[in-house]
Amino acid sequence: MSGPKTHSWIEDLDVYVTGKSKAKSEKPPVKLSANESALGPSPKAMHAYRNASEALHRYPDPVYNDLRDAIAHKNNIDKSRIVCGVGSDEILKLACRAYMSPGDEALFVAHSFSMYPIAVTSVGGVPIEVEDTNYTADVDKILAAVTDKTKIIFIANPNNPTGTYIPMSEIERLWKNIPDHILLVLDAAYAEFIREDDYDAGIDLVERSNNVLMTRTFSKLYGLAALRLGWGYACKEIAETLDKIRDPFNVPSSAQIAGVEALNDTEFEEKAYTHNETWRTWLSDELAALELEVIPSQTNFILFKFNDDEKSATAANEYLLNEGYILRHYSGQGLEKFLRLTVGTEEENKEVIRLLKAFLEKINGNL
Ligand SMILES: *Cc1c(COP(=O)(O)O)cnc(C)c1O
Repeated sequence: MSGPKTHSWIEDLDVYVTGKSKAKSEKPPVKLSANESALGPSPKAMHAYRNASEALHRYPDPVYNDLRDAIAHKNNIDKSRIVCGVGSDEILKLACRAYMSPGDEALFVAHSFSMYPIAVTSVGGVPIEVEDTNYTADVDKILAAVTDKTKIIFIANPNNPTGTYIPMSEIERLWKNIPDHILLVLDAAYAEFIREDDYDAGIDLVERSNNVLMTRTFSKLYGLAALRLGWGYACKEIAETLDKIRDPFNVPSSAQIAGVEALNDTEFEEKAYTHNETWRTWLSDELAALELEVIPSQTNFILFKFNDDEKSATAANEYLLNEGYILRHYSGQGLEKFLRLTVGTEEENKEVIRLLKAFLEKINGNL
């Protein structure tokens, strides 16, 4: 009576741990644990989504023509090489399915996106974690970890959960020093939040290469996480390969329509960027003033450290949960002394700092 038996690697697979959404207080919780948009969704996208309900009986456009047009136009890129997915998570998984066999290795840095090991393991691949330097990807260490079995290198740039980034010159150096049978995945989920001169999401490199895949998402700055919409850009061969193995109707019409409008909503985009820039700076300064160690962020979240011991981060997390504020606390990845805080509304940001101040005063005994 044992029933069907799955692969050993699937039996051993850990499920993805999502940002919590329940707190312990009476009030509705304030969720600052999943890097969601502080300003909600783009109003234009919301409007389009409502209208999409008229056509719920129709299958979606299987090649998402309008959405690819909008993405291509916005980024000035080749429409035929865009692949859309159920979140960019799906693109990452398609890449693993397409380019890894059981026993092959994929590299990513230690404090990075926890979907990578899951996507790799789900196809029987071996996830290899490479140490970082100052919570930032280190190209030399990544290059040193490449073996004959390496098939994919994932770089989240800017990175989650640390918020750090590496300049394009470093990405370029990494790419130049790996053989072209290795797929370099540039996960640019937070690209819309960073405007540093030396940063580049990777479009230009994709266009000059045959082994680079850039992924993007509508979940973060555009505030459409519920719709699960992401996209990838690569050379023709890679784009066609990923396209072959996706489900024919993977992206719902509602997501396609809302995605187009989100890209048109430049007013919201600017507002969201500016809000994030202003409040990330404010929050970083306030956290530093509380003598918490702040990892410099170029995203819509901040990772910060309680310097003394693990107990403070756990206790602070509990304290905040009791007050209805949900942050992300890591029980693994060597980040036990840290909390990750997503930039919220003005009111939420001010309140979370007030609460942290109160917590620190309490544990320092100077009430
Ligand atoms: C949020 C996030 C994603 C993707 O999210 P989707 O909602 O699946 O598009 C991808 N990579 C990183 C690093 C992220 O933080």
